[in-house]
Amino acid sequence: MIHEYQVVTRQNGVGDFVLEINLCSSDVGKYVKYFNSATDTWKLMRCVKWCYNLVRCSKATSGISYSNLATVYKHSILPVITYTAEAWHSLISKRAKNKLQQIQRSFLIFLTKAYRSVSLDTLQAIAGLMPIEQAVSLYKDIRAISRGKQTNAVRAQLRKVETPIKTKGTHPIDSYLHVELTGVEGIAEVTVYIDGSKTEHVGAGMAAVKDSKEIHTETQRLNNECTVFQAELCGIRIAIDWIQNQWKKASTYAINVGSKAALLTIANKHTTHPLAVDTRRKTIVLRKDTSVTFHWVKGHSGLKGNERADYLAKTVASYKPATSYDAIPVSRGKRLLEEYYIKIWNAAYTNSEKASHTKSLIPSTLHRMTLTFWPNHILTQFLKNYGCFRSYFYKSKKTPTPLCSCPEKAEQTARHLITDCSLFSKERPAVFWKLPLPSP
Ligand SMILES: [Zn+2]
Repeated sequence: MIHEYQVVTRQNGVGDFVLEINLCSSDVGKYVKYFNSATDTWKLMRCVKWCYNLVRCSKATSGISYSNLATVYKHSILPVITYTAEAWHSLISKRAKNKLQQIQRSFLIFLTKAYRSVSLDTLQAIAGLMPIEQAVSLYKDIRAISRGKQTNAVRAQLRKVETPIKTKGTHPIDSYLHVELTGVEGIAEVTVYIDGSKTEHVGAGMAAVKDSKEIHTETQRLNNECTVFQAELCGIRIAIDWIQNQWKKASTYAINVGSKAALLTIANKHTTHPLAVDTRRKTIVLRKDTSVTFHWVKGHSGLKGNERADYLAKTVASYKPATSYDAIPVSRGKRLLEEYYIKIWNAAYTNSEKASHTKSLIPSTLHRMTLTFWPNHILTQFLKNYGCFRSYFYKSKKTPTPLCSCPEKAEQTARHLITDCSLFSKERPAVFWKLPLPSP
């Protein structure tokens, strides 16, 4: 149980360190109670502690860079905040949301080296990090698709996402599956060639050869969102299914595959990929009375059987009217979810009354995600139009005139310095070297 929490912050004025922040249980208890156990509570408190510890090593013009702080935020802070989000996400109160926003705001100020009064919308856009509500929803949905559950995100493609499968109870003798990766073509009584392709369509093809004659071909079309890797695994599965249906017509089969990654996945006893798990299971049953060997062959190396499988996957599979496999990989599902929540963030950002100056430089959050600049103390002032500009100082009567001392004699705002101040022309490229400048 938390009674009181104290954090030592940096020295305040001249003197020793002072104790500034006292977070008592009543203060944080409202949002802490949604976390399932006392351990989680401590994790959250640790998160607050990290936040204030960062003050010591990250100052406006020195200390940890944006990139490193963003890594700390994404990989240490967000996982702590979003832990067990599935349980408390829908129950969270307005006050709890505000608390989480406060934590995010503190980090964003360190990240962007901004002044404390900058609005949250602006900070999020400059830092390129989505609001905490969307981040929590994103993490919750990512965990949901990894477990084969439905998400709240309205994306048609997300209805079918591959669910990782864990295999249990396999005998150690059965867990080993040998794959030959020397690049030498495997020859047996029946030699099978597999290839997968992704152009406009995604397809898998197999060709079986016996005594230099093609005895069987088969193709499968996959959803356009699927990957070549999945197509290769589908191809291997088609081959194994076909061998199973042969009812021991031949005693040895050599399967030549063009993808090393697919074969390594099949060989891995810890794999959770549903296609690989299915293929492994069938192969282990099959090899009790039939010899099945896997070989990696280099693609497009002039091997006749491989070229034939490539043609089948690329051309013949594309004529199939329906797809026979349409589960997208989890990685693609995660990307789709991220895009979905960035769009929601974008709608909130563009409709917000705040951040009007920032919007002229970063019109949308979708645009922000394409930029790779690192915010720093100087750049953030320009992006917010809030800092050491005469127009700003003039409002508080710290300077006698708002006008710039350049020959243009315009009001010295961030926009003037960014676009047309001749005195600032030398420094301008150094400040905005990764940020596209707006037209004057
Ligand atoms: Zn000027």
